[in-house]
Amino acid sequence: MTGCPTHPGAESVGTCARCGRFYCAPERIELDGLKYCADCGVRADVDWLGHHYRKLEGTRSGLAWFLLFAGVGFVVVSLFVTFTPGADGGARLIGLGFLVFGACSLATFSGKPRLRPALLVGSAVSGVLFAVGAQDPTAALGTLPLLGLAAAAWTDVRTRLFFRVPVPRATLRAHFEREGSNPLAVQASRLALLGLFIPGVCFISLVMGVVALTRIDSKAVPPVGNLSAALGAIVFSLFTSAFWALSFLSARW
Ligand SMILES: [Zn+2]
Ligand SMILES: [Zn+2]
Repeated sequence: MTGCPTHPGAESVGTCARCGRFYCAPERIELDGLKYCADCGVRADVDWLGHHYRKLEGTRSGLAWFLLFAGVGFVVVSLFVTFTPGADGGARLIGLGFLVFGACSLATFSGKPRLRPALLVGSAVSGVLFAVGAQDPTAALGTLPLLGLAAAAWTDVRTRLFFRVPVPRATLRAHFEREGSNPLAVQASRLALLGLFIPGVCFISLVMGVVALTRIDSKAVPPVGNLSAALGAIVFSLFTSAFWALSFLSARW
């Protein structure tokens, strides 16, 4: 058996898929079914998925920023409910429920690993406060949207990376194919939906969809994909353009 060129005395167990060099078992890196030596396995053009997501570790996700504004909003609602003239003890408990959830939203925005469960705990606590404050157990159902928000923050890939929680490679891959591989296509499809409500937006989403379509390149490193989002944005934008054109014409006649 051949020895490892990097580690004298160690036995080689195979050759690198990129450079062809022999590697030993401890330095072998396996990515998407291919095996690499220690040098090649960490390269940006080999482990592009790892590089893409390592850049996002510790950076705030869109959901984290949303929780900053939501948190401030809940604190304002809490003050309003608590200090409205004539507010009784029950109303103050409901106000406290909003304050707890607002504080937990801000705790999530802070990104401190210890505070990651705060939002889930906070939604349960505010549910109890709502039920006791309103003297009606069904009032706890009012926290269902808050619980949904907390569950989304717990499971969201980008927010997990923000908290530096390890995410399995298969999950990163699925997330990349959905959101990361062609962000313009995703933005175009979201804007296309908005175009149904705001006139003129459909033209912007149409152009973005066409540009996103021209960017698709499965051979690039990392690959650029998301054909369905780009095509969806184009088709939907054409549909909304026709819809707005018809409504303007019928308004004129
Ligand atoms: Zn190599
Ligand atoms: Zn070695």
